Amino acid sequence: MSSDRVSRAGLLAGLDRRYVWHPFTQMRDWLRANPTVIVEGRGPCVMDARGRRYLDANSSIWTNLHGHQQPRITRAMIRQLKKIAHSSALGLANEPASLLAEKLVKLAPKSLKKVFYSDDGSTAIEAALKMAFQFWRQQTVRRAAERNPEGFRGAPHRFDSRRSFLALENAYHGDTVGAMSLGGMDVFHDTYRPLMFRTSKVMAPYCYRCPFNRAKPEKTDARNHRKCNWECISLVEQKLESEAGGRKSRVTRHASRVTRLYAAAVIEPLVQGAAGMITHPAGYLKKFSDLCRQHDVLLIADEVMTGFGRTGTLFACEKEKVLPDFLCLAKGLTGGYLPLATTLTSQRVFDAFLGEYAERKTFFHGHSYAANPLGCSAALANLETFDREKTLKTIAARSAELETMLQRFWKLPHVGDVRQVGLVAGVELVRNWKTHEPYRWEDRMGARVCEEAKKQGVLTRPIGNVLVIMPPYCITAAQLEKICDVLKRSIQTVCN
Ligand code: PMP
Repeated sequence: MSSDRVSRAGLLAGLDRRYVWHPFTQMRDWLRANPTVIVEGRGPCVMDARGRRYLDANSSIWTNLHGHQQPRITRAMIRQLKKIAHSSALGLANEPASLLAEKLVKLAPKSLKKVFYSDDGSTAIEAALKMAFQFWRQQTVRRAAERNPEGFRGAPHRFDSRRSFLALENAYHGDTVGAMSLGGMDVFHDTYRPLMFRTSKVMAPYCYRCPFNRAKPEKTDARNHRKCNWECISLVEQKLESEAGGRKSRVTRHASRVTRLYAAAVIEPLVQGAAGMITHPAGYLKKFSDLCRQHDVLLIADEVMTGFGRTGTLFACEKEKVLPDFLCLAKGLTGGYLPLATTLTSQRVFDAFLGEYAERKTFFHGHSYAANPLGCSAALANLETFDREKTLKTIAARSAELETMLQRFWKLPHVGDVRQVGLVAGVELVRNWKTHEPYRWEDRMGARVCEEAKKQGVLTRPIGNVLVIMPPYCITAAQLEKICDVLKRSIQTVCN
C-alpha cells in the first residue's frame, strides 16, 4: 500500500471521528476504533481508502440491487444531470417522474393507480399513514354531510373517524415519529415512547420462537415443520373484530352505532427485515390481507426492503396475490443510488381527496426533494435493467443456490434458525439450539461475527444475533459461496 494512500485513509478516518455522528451507532465504541472509509464500489464489491476489497453482503444496508457502478444507471443519471438535477414537484411536473410513475403503476399490484413521491422509507410510510388517516376522516365528513346537509358546516374535527393502526410486534417501518409509532422494536423505540401515538400490535408469525408452535426443536426451517392452528392469524382476527364491536360512537352516543378504530393495518410482506429477517409462513400474508378486506381496514404494504425482486418476484405482494391499498417503496427503487421513495395508492383513496379548495381535502404533505429528477432517472434505469438483463431469472437461480449453500449453517451448534426467502437470508445465533436460548443483546455476538467476517473480506451488518445475507443481484455463485464460507468460519471462531 502506498504511503499516500495510508495518509489519505488516516486523514479521512480522522475527519470522520472528529465530525460525523453515525446512525444507530454507539459513538463511544466508534471513537475507540478505526473506521473503515469506503471510497469506491464496483459490482458486488466495495473498496476502502486503504485499498482493501470487500464483498457487499448486505447490499449497503439493503439498497443496492444490480451492483455498484452499474453502467446503465450511471449513464441515465449523467444524461439527466446534463438536463437538470432538481426541480420541485410542488406545482410542477418533471419528465422522469411522469415516466416513472406510469412504469410503477403498470408493474405494481393492480389495485394501485397513483404515485406519491417522497425521499426514503420512513417518509413513504409517513405519507401512507397520513393518507389513510385523512381518507377515513373525509369519509366520515362526507357521511355526516349526507345525513344532515343542513346542519353540517364542514368542520372535520367535530366528527369521529378511524385513527388507529394495526401493526405486527417487532415491526420496523422507519425512524420518523409516525413510522416509529407503527414499529414495535423496544430496543430502538423505547426511549421515544412518550413522543409516539398509540397503535395496536399483534403477534408476528415468528415460527421459530412462536409460543403456539408445538413442534420439537429441530435443525430445520421452523416454518416448514411447525405444528400449529394458525393462532397468529386468529389473533389478527380477534383484534379486528374487537375493534369493530366494542365502542360506542362519540358522535351519536348511540350504542348500536359503533366506531371502527383502525384506519389501516401495516405489514412488511413475507419477511420482517429489521426484526431479524423473520420470514413468515407461506399463506400468512394472504390471510392477513383477506382479514383486512373483510373488516374494510386499509392495507399498507411496506415493501421498502422487499420491493424490487428481493423475495423473488418484483414485489413481495405478488407472491400471494395480495392487492394492498398502499405500497411503500424506497431503498432499491433507484437501484440503491439515490434516496427516493414512493407511496402508491388506489383510485378509491385518491378520489377521497378530491374536492373544492375550501373543503381542505388536499393532502397537506410534501418534501422539497419529492420526485427528484435524478433519482427518478436512476429508478427508470433500474427498472430497465430488470427488463433487459432478465434480473428476476438471475435472482431465481442465485436464490436456489443460496438455499443449498445455507445448509452448512445448520451443522453449527450455535445456529438456531436459518431462514430464507429469495435473496434474503437470516442466520440466528443462539447460546443453546435445543432450548432456543438467545445470546444476550450486550454480548454483541452478531456484531462480533461480522467484525471477524470483515477481516476476511465480507461486509454485512447483523440485527442483534441474526446475521444477514442480502447481496446485490449481480453476485456470482462463487462470490455467494465465499460469503457463506466466511460467515461460517467467523461463527466458529467467535462462538466456539
Ligand atoms: N420500512 C422497512 C421495512 C425498512 O426496512 C426500512 C429501513 N430499514 C424502513 C421502512 C425505513 O427506511 P429508511 O431507512 O429509508 O427511512
